[in-house]
Amino acid sequence: MAKRRKSSVVDGFSTLKAVRDRKAAEDGMPPDSAKDAQLAPREEASSKESLTGIVSTALPSKHRLTCYECEYTFVVSGAIRTTGCPKCHTQLDAKDYLIESDWTGDVKTIGAIRVAADGVLKRGSIFARDLVLEGSIEDASLRVCGRLELCPGAQFDVKTVHAQDLLVRAGAQFVFTRKLSFRNVDIAGELKCKLQVEELVTVRAGGHLRGNVSGARFAVEEGGGLTARLDIRGKE
Ligand SMILES: [Zn+2]
Repeated sequence: MAKRRKSSVVDGFSTLKAVRDRKAAEDGMPPDSAKDAQLAPREEASSKESLTGIVSTALPSKHRLTCYECEYTFVVSGAIRTTGCPKCHTQLDAKDYLIESDWTGDVKTIGAIRVAADGVLKRGSIFARDLVLEGSIEDASLRVCGRLELCPGAQFDVKTVHAQDLLVRAGAQFVFTRKLSFRNVDIAGELKCKLQVEELVTVRAGGHLRGNVSGARFAVEEGGGLTARLDIRGKE
């Protein structure tokens, strides 16, 4: 997966159907290239509120990024913008992408990707910092170095997913038989599974977590449900 060259990624993008980049047009900011224009990349500055929806409480202004070419992980402060990988020097695309119809191919970005409710990733792979999944993933692998956000209606095969953090949005309900591992898990909807969490498990008001859960720290808001066998290891 990490072997593909950058050029092939950009070519792959040219077939992606997406809405026009209204935000860029309003701002009078020309897209980086003609090819990118078909992808409707969103402006970096708007990514925080537009695609990931909820502002993370765990990640203020420092971002841990993973290079999609060599998998080197590094930390940047402030807004995420196109940046060179400190190790392999690949210029890493930081634009946000929207998939809102059938699509086949690879998408790689250190920005965010949103698969909208009508979006179907038929085949290929996704590498993103954050992925918001409202639609379907059929036969594709997902690698999320930041947060995977599962929305109501999301359909995917959990064994093709590797993500650092997980957010289950309000109204979403998922049952997984497979054991899952994340760094942080935030439950505003309902989740039943066997879960191993390196750092923090948060259950929001109206959310419910069931199953078998081990984690370092737990936070359950008033109105949040936790019906699970717990293994709380504390902060090491
Ligand atoms: Zn690299």
